[in-house]
Amino acid sequence: MIFKVAIASPLYQLFDYLPPLDVECDNVQLGARLVVPFGRGDHKKIAVLVEITDHSDFALHKLKRVERIIDQHSLLSAHDLTLLHWVSRYYHYPIGEVISMAFPAALRQGKAATLTAETSPHPTELSNAALLSNPAQQTAIDAVCASLGQFAVFLLEGVTGSGKTEVYLQIIHEVLKRGQQVLVLVPEISLTPQLEARFKHRFAVNIAVSHSKLTDNQRQKAWLHTQQGISPILLGTRSALFTPFNNLGLIILDEEHDASFKQQEGVRFSARDTAIVRSKLLNIPILLGSATPSLESLHNVDKKRYQWLHLPERAGYSIKPVLQLLDIRNKKMREGLSEILLVEIRKTLEKNEQVLLFLNRRGFAPTLICHGCGWVARCQHCEANLVIHADEALLRCHHCGTEHRLMNTCPACKTGELTPLGLGTERVEKVLTKVFANKITLRLDRDSTKRKGSLEDYLEQINQGEVDIILGTQMLAKGHHFPNVTLVAILDVDSGLFSIDFHTAEKLAQLIIQVSGRAGRAEKPGRVIMQTRQPDHPLLTTLIEHGYQRFAQSALAERKAAQLPPFSYHALLSVQARDMELALVFLQAVIDLAQQTPNSAVQLLGPVPAPMAKRAGFYRYQLLFQSGQRRDLQSLLTTIIPNVAKLKIAAKVRWSLDVDPVDLY
Ligand code: ADP
Ligand code: ZN
Ligand code: ZN
Repeated sequence: MIFKVAIASPLYQLFDYLPPLDVECDNVQLGARLVVPFGRGDHKKIAVLVEITDHSDFALHKLKRVERIIDQHSLLSAHDLTLLHWVSRYYHYPIGEVISMAFPAALRQGKAATLTAETSPHPTELSNAALLSNPAQQTAIDAVCASLGQFAVFLLEGVTGSGKTEVYLQIIHEVLKRGQQVLVLVPEISLTPQLEARFKHRFAVNIAVSHSKLTDNQRQKAWLHTQQGISPILLGTRSALFTPFNNLGLIILDEEHDASFKQQEGVRFSARDTAIVRSKLLNIPILLGSATPSLESLHNVDKKRYQWLHLPERAGYSIKPVLQLLDIRNKKMREGLSEILLVEIRKTLEKNEQVLLFLNRRGFAPTLICHGCGWVARCQHCEANLVIHADEALLRCHHCGTEHRLMNTCPACKTGELTPLGLGTERVEKVLTKVFANKITLRLDRDSTKRKGSLEDYLEQINQGEVDIILGTQMLAKGHHFPNVTLVAILDVDSGLFSIDFHTAEKLAQLIIQVSGRAGRAEKPGRVIMQTRQPDHPLLTTLIEHGYQRFAQSALAERKAAQLPPFSYHALLSVQARDMELALVFLQAVIDLAQQTPNSAVQLLGPVPAPMAKRAGFYRYQLLFQSGQRRDLQSLLTTIIPNVAKLKIAAKVRWSLDVDPVDLY
């Protein structure tokens, strides 16, 4: 008997072992954890049993023995293993690393999978106080419930406040009544507390919660509760996707367009796409929800792969916000705020309503320039300017963290006047506190919320009405509901209009709609004002005059004309090295490998410098694989990537492969 096991290591293979001596192995289950000697020093490693065969490519006397079997009962089901194999194959990442990722830290280290005894009360009543659903909600609920027990993908499109969460809750109730479990995935941690409270309020059952801000112990508990079927609901972020379930009946993925569902290091999997594969394997439905669905998902609706469900109106009593462009060309400005906008802000504050201002740049100003000689403060490690942080009197690189004291004289000419160029949240905050001196302004960005728990405190202050003006970055765009905000302004919408990455337009449109979703709930209608010097830009006018759906149609038409995803398939191979030459030699070796594998259906674009050509002292280059057929792209990658990993030069650079990248940075 040969045990084929997965071990976390950079090798694209399984490892063969002999079963342990003196142990009855007939009942050992696939997916069980084992202790094995590994590598030169025979260090003990935790492995996972993936296959039992009677054949090895190695001589039997060369094989080592498994030392110990940790789990008598496997923690992973056959389906779980199949899913992890799929992830390894599709994202071209070593199987051992992928399987290891599925376990919480303590189990990865071989600790026993035991729960401290806990009896969960068996509720007689599953849920409280469902709302009476409106017809659109009912149609969505019925459609998904009719598909329970079979594979189907649903896309639920509805603006913020249209009642998507209510739809989720009612469908979940049906699944629980059937005695099955539900996996609910959300993009951001900051979304979870509100949602968690709502779930706990609705369901009188044990709800497991899993995200990266929890302790290892908490995560392990959620994992085991889910695996053993104690928790009928698991609410979590991307990493919760691989949690094993006892009897999973439905997956819900909220804010499906959100880029944080794509892991950006290690195994670069898409939690959305992998969740769909999981649903298919288990033959269960999956429900994707968004106010601003991704172009890929809308394309899949067009192709009849997904069923589209629509909530066209806001639920309850609130009215949709009105979106307006504010042409600021030649207008008098005060630190990024036009006079007209200042008047609107004042009017809103006079009614004792709140204002939300959005600027996606933290710090005081993104550039420090010398008015005398043109010197610019640059990071010496990155292809980037240093950002001025006036409060701390620092210049800081947002890419590598390098800091310098803010100087008073120009280091180049010693005489010129140093001038801050451009706008950051700190700078706007200063002018707001001056102009609206008797009002409270709150700045919310990564700098102001560094302290743990501070974001929650601030959100509470906003909801208590202790704050008049909220100024913040994109962390404001997500999930939070501010019922008393009736004016939202996007200060600099133009900065998103010009990018070399074709994904940017989609993200900007989503951001605008998401930000505007924060405004006007309950009885107070909201307005959204966007300051722009491009009032005729087609992206903006389409979005404002015709809404997100029309924008998405025209964006998809452009992608089709250019044969860009979702009309073709991409994989991005990135490399970084301290030595520029080394990075290029590596990519040339990759190209050589690709050219030895004749596959004319895949185009290689590059090597080109990454959009940020140097970062933290590393030169960055990339190579883009593009193909009209997913199959062709996959077959080429399957052939070459394990060989790329074996290249001698691969050990001297940092490289990664991103299949279906969501950005090209
Ligand atoms: P979304 O998830 O799309 O943002 P929610 O489900 O949170 O929307 O609903 C928005 C608001 O409308 C919530 O306050 C919710 O309680 C309320 N709501 C949802 N559905 C209904 C309904 N059928 N009748 C009355 N109020 C509803
Ligand atoms: Zn100078
Ligand atoms: Zn830097």
